[in-house]
Amino acid sequence: MGSTTTEAQLLENVIGGRHVPAESDDVLDVLDPATGEPVARVPLSGAEDVDRAARAAHEAWPAWADTPVPERARLMFRLQALCEAHFEELAEICTLENGKGIDESRGEVRRGLEVIEFAAGMPTLMSGQTLEQVSRGIDTELFRTPLGAVAAITPFNFPVMVPLWTIPIAIAAGNTFVLKPSQRTPLSALKLADLLEEAGCPPGVFNVVHGAADAVNAICDHPLLRAVSFVGSAPVAKHVYARCAEAGKRVQALAGAKNHIVVMPDADLDLAVPGLFSSAFANAGQRCLAASVGIPVGEVADELAERLAEMARQAKVGPGADPENAITPVTTAEARKRIGDYVELGVEEGARLLVDGRMETNGGFFLGPTILDDVRPEMRVAQEEIFGPVLSLERVSSLHQALETIARNEFGNATAIFTRDGGAAREFRRRVTAGMVGVNIPVPAPMAFLPFAGWKGSFFGDLHATGMDGVRFFTETKVVTTRWPG
Ligand code: NAD
Repeated sequence: MGSTTTEAQLLENVIGGRHVPAESDDVLDVLDPATGEPVARVPLSGAEDVDRAARAAHEAWPAWADTPVPERARLMFRLQALCEAHFEELAEICTLENGKGIDESRGEVRRGLEVIEFAAGMPTLMSGQTLEQVSRGIDTELFRTPLGAVAAITPFNFPVMVPLWTIPIAIAAGNTFVLKPSQRTPLSALKLADLLEEAGCPPGVFNVVHGAADAVNAICDHPLLRAVSFVGSAPVAKHVYARCAEAGKRVQALAGAKNHIVVMPDADLDLAVPGLFSSAFANAGQRCLAASVGIPVGEVADELAERLAEMARQAKVGPGADPENAITPVTTAEARKRIGDYVELGVEEGARLLVDGRMETNGGFFLGPTILDDVRPEMRVAQEEIFGPVLSLERVSSLHQALETIARNEFGNATAIFTRDGGAAREFRRRVTAGMVGVNIPVPAPMAFLPFAGWKGSFFGDLHATGMDGVRFFTETKVVTTRWPG
């Protein structure tokens, strides 16, 4: 628990259209990762606060579900226009609380906006299905209906985009919403609440409860919340998935990652080296699609390692507000320590420390880019998610061996191949055990109209967060069979 400061403002929950202080007295400092200075204090709400928000959402639901779908879609058009008008402000808040580069923040706001644009098509997206004369004089219809009050629990690494993966789709589909943002990055969520209110979202349709584990557990257990979308680390994802299932809820839990990029001997290194570098090190490696393992195949390994090492030594490390800085701070002091410990572990396990990014720092949570070479698949640094600016290189001799290395990893979020050979790319695309695949694309993030499709230990559930999966996740189907006498 952080110490309290007098200057930093104590944040409030947003419940039923009002800003209300949390019942809980537990408070955490929200720190600017570039300086270590507090920018706000966040309440760690408990079950009572979650109950207030769930009731507000539940009470607002019948009127919102009765609001015509085109009117709900129009709320998305207004929200989209407001997010465009406040684009820079959203990006600046994101950089302030998360630490990421301002261009990275702009990119994340843009990706979030695309989900709002997708959800504005809800009259089409929610359409059902009909078939006349399924039997003599009998017709059948399928309707998609909203679930009720739903919730999302989100991580620190995309404080604007990840909440926007679900808010627009769920609300445009006629649900009411409780957001529990990461306690490390609560400010973006409050800005989104302001913009939704300004766009005309009725009180209680969108609510924000700040907090950590207690608030999460209360959401999982609350009988009025019908569905939970979770994004975060694997252990918490498993916990939320099981706890929501126990409570009989619909749940999707997007979890951690260990993403591999394969570089074939024929790859265009002018594309592959900067691609792998930025995938591994942008946002200090704190992306769920970050490549944390490079797999050079055959003789390309030495040149790839040398060129990456050169880029790492040249990279400017500094605050995210300055776009010149390639490497920005990690979000917390605890993460900085954990990542440093992993570097140490890699060396103990026998990896070669090609570039050591550990550095002295003056307040901010900085770590330079680190490259571990000669990593083997059985090492913990090869298997576990480090979630920091650390790239492991696992040298292999064939595409087959690269595919086996990826297959034996617990996670299966994203992966990519760099090659000029269409046959190798096709083989990779068909055989690789991950849900988001890039061919000469280092960060293969799906657009809003497609699912964010993690596999294996990177996802627990059936329906993913965005695209039609998102629409299906936040609606249920009703099938009506009709006969009229005469
Ligand atoms: P986290 O698991 O620590 O926190 C996520 C959410 O869970 C937060 O809202 C937090 O308050 C809550 N939480 C934390 N500990 C809890 C506990 N013990 N019990 C109940 N709730 C708890 O994750 P993070 O550090 O905020 O985010 C980084 C992680 O998220 C990484 O593992 C990253 O790979 C993952 N992530 C995955 C995706 C994806 O699409 N698969 C996207 C973004 C981030």
